[in-house]
Amino acid sequence: MNSPAATRARTAAQARTRSPWNRKNPYRATLVGNQLLSRQGSSKEVRHFEFDLGDSDISYEPGDGLGVTPINDPALINAIVTRLGVPLDHGVEGHERPLSDLLMHSYELRTPGRDLLEFAAERAGNDDLAHLAVDRAARDEWSRGRDVLDVLDLIPGTVPVAEFVSALDPLKHRTYSISSTPSVHGNHVHLTVASVRHLTAGRMRTGTCSTYLADRIGDGGAGGIFPVKNKSFRLPGDDTPIIMIGPGTGVAPFRAFLHERAARGAVGKNWLFFGDRNRGSDFLYEEELVALHGRGVLTQLDVTFSRDQSDKHYVWHRMIEHGAQLFAWLEEGAHVYVCGDALVMAADVDRALLDVVTAHGRYSAEQAREYVDALRTSKRYLRDVY
Ligand SMILES: Cc1cc2nc3c(=O)[nH]c(=O)nc-3n(C[C@H](O)[C@H](O)[C@H](O)COP(=O)(O)OP(=O)(O)OC[C@H]3O[C@@H](n4cnc5c(N)ncnc54)[C@H](O)[C@@H]3O)c2cc1C
Repeated sequence: MNSPAATRARTAAQARTRSPWNRKNPYRATLVGNQLLSRQGSSKEVRHFEFDLGDSDISYEPGDGLGVTPINDPALINAIVTRLGVPLDHGVEGHERPLSDLLMHSYELRTPGRDLLEFAAERAGNDDLAHLAVDRAARDEWSRGRDVLDVLDLIPGTVPVAEFVSALDPLKHRTYSISSTPSVHGNHVHLTVASVRHLTAGRMRTGTCSTYLADRIGDGGAGGIFPVKNKSFRLPGDDTPIIMIGPGTGVAPFRAFLHERAARGAVGKNWLFFGDRNRGSDFLYEEELVALHGRGVLTQLDVTFSRDQSDKHYVWHRMIEHGAQLFAWLEEGAHVYVCGDALVMAADVDRALLDVVTAHGRYSAEQAREYVDALRTSKRYLRDVY
């Protein structure tokens, strides 16, 4: 029973039973693939990961996410412990495990939380830190690029270890959009992840989970994962056209959608807008997407690369350029999916969609807004942005 139809029937049956694997009880899955997707010369590092689901019975569908429980970076742990001036195996009052173990598995070391800033403000007698502790927006802005060690460095003198540990936030899992489908990729689950690495204030900083996947699990190593269902981001019926807007790692669920539609022999048209910085180095899954286009699975593939010319082009420019056709697809009943950056991209795409509807539907601004709202309420305009 390994045909795509059999796999789908099994997946649907499994989906009806609740998975025993969750945030508190992750499945230890073997990492069987870790490949660089971005090419030489890219200003980014994007990787393709594959986990073997083994005997977990984890089921997923295109559109779902995967939770990953990370382990903190030993280099950061060492630097924190050095600053605290204690050995790695230092005992912590109220805990059975030594300091290094607590910092490795249990606490968030990357983004400083409110309690830590409050603790630091009190120890340092620093009103600015006290303000950050109470003002969420100011804290978010200040925290960007900073980590727990930056906060420790603002505290003069000795830092009491147990109080410091109790001011840390618990280590959270990270969610990733799944870029595979069981119909084609069997018992494996694929992720498409941008590694967070940046130099700030003279020190290299790394994203907890993205670099745990890239650098620390190691090929053949095991990591904690669990399914994150996303029932509101699903493929429509096989004959419905879909428009997918997924720049950068936002392409992940659409790779899953396209492979699933190919496996099902779905007749609905598929249109993908993809964008990134440079075509030579950042066209993620280029061969696969071009091949899917060649086979006619991907009816239309529109790509744009912001740094290949002096004036920056983004996916929303392509949407406007193809506005007449995009509106025609909407009138045919197409579903629109957006995945990727929530901060700028999703808002730009939303504006572009409104502009397309206004221009090509010959609507007033208010009518266009109603049209797009109706797409949203009828679940034909779906977003998975982060
Ligand atoms: C539903 C959902 C789906 C997602 N799907 C994907 C996906 O498919 N692929 C993917 O790659 N991610 C995806 N993400 C994002 C992912 O969950 C993580 O947030 C991301 O990998 C970063 O986590 P991290 O642990 O590596 O970094 P963290 O340890 O969480 O650190 C991130 C912090 O680093 C700082 N930072 C990052 N870059 C810079 C910079 N250049 N300069 C200064 N500071 C910086 C910011 O303060 C940021 O908050 C998704 C998120 C959600 C909610």
